[in-house]
Amino acid sequence: MEQSMEQQDLELIWHPCSQMKDYETLPPMVIDHAHGCWLYDIHGKAYLDIVSSWWANLLGHTHPVLNARIKAQLDRLEHVIFANFTHEPAITLARRLQKLVPPGLSKFQFHDNGSAAVEAALKLCFQYHQQTGHPERQKFLCLTEGYHGETVGALSVGSMDLFSLKYKPMLMETIHVEAPDCYRCPYGKQRDDCTCPCFGKAEEAFARYGKEAAAMIVEPLLQGSAGMRIYPALYLKKLRKLCDGYGVKLIADEIATGFGRTGTLFACEQAGITPDVMCLSKGLTGGYLPMSLTVTTQEIYDAFYDDYGTHKAFLHSHTYAGNPLGCAAALGVLDVLEQQQILLKARETARWLTKEMEGRFGKHEHIGEIRHIGLIHALELVADRKSKRPFPAEKRLGYQLYQKALARGLVLRPLGDVLYFNPPLTIAKEELTQAMEVLGEVLRES
Ligand SMILES: *Cc1c(COP(=O)(O)O)cnc(C)c1O
Repeated sequence: MEQSMEQQDLELIWHPCSQMKDYETLPPMVIDHAHGCWLYDIHGKAYLDIVSSWWANLLGHTHPVLNARIKAQLDRLEHVIFANFTHEPAITLARRLQKLVPPGLSKFQFHDNGSAAVEAALKLCFQYHQQTGHPERQKFLCLTEGYHGETVGALSVGSMDLFSLKYKPMLMETIHVEAPDCYRCPYGKQRDDCTCPCFGKAEEAFARYGKEAAAMIVEPLLQGSAGMRIYPALYLKKLRKLCDGYGVKLIADEIATGFGRTGTLFACEQAGITPDVMCLSKGLTGGYLPMSLTVTTQEIYDAFYDDYGTHKAFLHSHTYAGNPLGCAAALGVLDVLEQQQILLKARETARWLTKEMEGRFGKHEHIGEIRHIGLIHALELVADRKSKRPFPAEKRLGYQLYQKALARGLVLRPLGDVLYFNPPLTIAKEELTQAMEVLGEVLRES
């Protein structure tokens, strides 16, 4: 008998971020096609992609504008070596982004995935200090519970044991500053009117390591993988000042937050800061193609600019750097964002969603907090609201709910016991209502 697609997949494919044994009870969904916020499997079942296919899909699947742009580019130039060669889509993209990123960021490096953009950012800051008279600056600071990707450098500045503990002996030593935790705030503060006493932890770390640090990397405003942990813009403002005071570079990893996810085009805007280096990916191409950018300042660029023989160049490359198809998709994203006022509409949708969520789930005995920024809305499940005690991890409650929601056609992929919506910015209120209804049913059942 012929094997099913699911069986063939499990015979051959090792999926990302998965215990493959789990697939014995939950085989992979074989997706045949997609449109808007919906995925359709080979059996005709529809799934609402409320997590934007790993936070990447920005404007919906098979978007007519993006599809047309990529197809047109494909017939012109699919790829070309990006050292010594260039092309119009990359130039136009950099030109347009330069006007949109925080002021002062003006030099664009092209890479092919988020982790690669982070690796480049780290190496860039390290080498910058080597070439500007501070070879002693070799350490990196980061926030606890931070996430910056899976490659060895990115894992080293990440701080989630789930992903990094096993590899500790392989990783470089980094300084982990206790991150703001507004839900379980040890200082008893509220996120909305907070003076950030937790920033003292950063000050202590800088007092101790500030003179030997090359850079600090953060996910601005939103620690995504940590469970959509949101912290005040004031923290970022203070961090910008602290970094300046110590001569430490600030890297903003906007891979998840960029392109409108937090309500503004970039999260850094809300703090009114310009990082020294910014990493972009995911929404950059609308979630279509693997492309990332490491964006930096003239000042950093200048520290590498010299005669070849001085060996100051940044000799970092990825084969698919500057891929024209990715650039075409990214240009399409910028056009759609502008012409269709996507951010304005998404902000309105977000305000409505907050009200709806609070109305439906605000009093639920096992929802400790509903937190939100932009369209991203997260519900943290707790065993006890008052003490904020989590459910035992062995219970895998989030995973149980995920399976139940999938059966009802909703991709509610949790982060531990945090359920969240991070949909394409173009999602309709009716679709969000459908998602909340499934969420309600699933919660009632558990
Ligand atoms: C997804 C993500 C990355 C890694 O990007 P990949 O393309 O998966 O390597 C890095 N940082 C943040 C904040 C992310 O969300």
